[in-house]
Amino acid sequence: KQGLMAGKRGLVMGLANDKSIAWGIARALAAEGAELAFSYQGEALKKRVEPLAASLGSSLVLPCDVGDETTIDTLFQSLQDEWGSLDFVVHAIGFSDKDQLRGRYADTTRDNFLMTMDISVYSFTAVARRAAAMMPQGGSLLTLTYYGAERVMPHYNVMGVAKAALEASVRYLAEDLGKDKIRVNAISAGPIKTLAASGIGDFRYIMKWNELNSPLRRNVTQEDVGNSALYLLSRLGAGVTGETHHVDAGYHVVGMKAVDAPDI
Ligand code: NAD
Repeated sequence: KQGLMAGKRGLVMGLANDKSIAWGIARALAAEGAELAFSYQGEALKKRVEPLAASLGSSLVLPCDVGDETTIDTLFQSLQDEWGSLDFVVHAIGFSDKDQLRGRYADTTRDNFLMTMDISVYSFTAVARRAAAMMPQGGSLLTLTYYGAERVMPHYNVMGVAKAALEASVRYLAEDLGKDKIRVNAISAGPIKTLAASGIGDFRYIMKWNELNSPLRRNVTQEDVGNSALYLLSRLGAGVTGETHHVDAGYHVVGMKAVDAPDI
């Protein structure tokens, strides 16, 4: 195989269907010659993920529910047996009770707070530790976050708090693993219509708002995120770690969009 990722092997976690951000990333990596393994959450997703993986020439499709330490161990044991080492991991996983992705953050329950932090934050650390043990030559780890970590966005609520913790974990992991030449970064993606996003209240309105108010006057695509992921996961990103890189058509830099000034 030829390309920027030729000879590189990596795990993609969080593929649910062809709308998933993980799918945009997987396609960009495969197009540059990467060899991919995929993990899926539960039996119901297996039949969706297998054909997608096969279309990229991958037959290593393994179950893993990140809420369960034993399934994470089993996944990494399988990768150890199959490949022996790893070059990169993509973590495109997040979850919260959708009833709490609307209304007030103040009403978040303790149970959902802990579950959201467990699945959306701790899982990246749990995965990073095991992946690092399989990266004797160094490697690159990537997770997905959203601007709701930095600023209040409608309905994002407990997910915003979780993403803030995830972004902080990226910085701590970058320091812990940097000595071993392992880089750790996040992409903060603009809103994209996926299964997970459909759980967020008024998502269509949020997308329209981003389209109208971002410097590029458009929403980002799976391909945009995939190409930036390629940069962070390949040698092109060799000097970058601990970073939250915005792939959001520039939305995060805008305080207020210019309009034809009304007479005040
Ligand atoms: P998606 O629904 O396609 O992917 C979410 C994935 O998380 C699914 O594959 C699901 O199976 C997996 N998952 C949930 N709980 C899990 C568990 N316990 N164990 C294993 N896997 C589990 O949606 P997406 O939008 O592609 O989400 C991917 C990542 O991108 C998430 O972290 C999300 O927060 C982030 N993100 C999404 C957007 C957006 O607008 N879509 C923007 C910024 C960041």
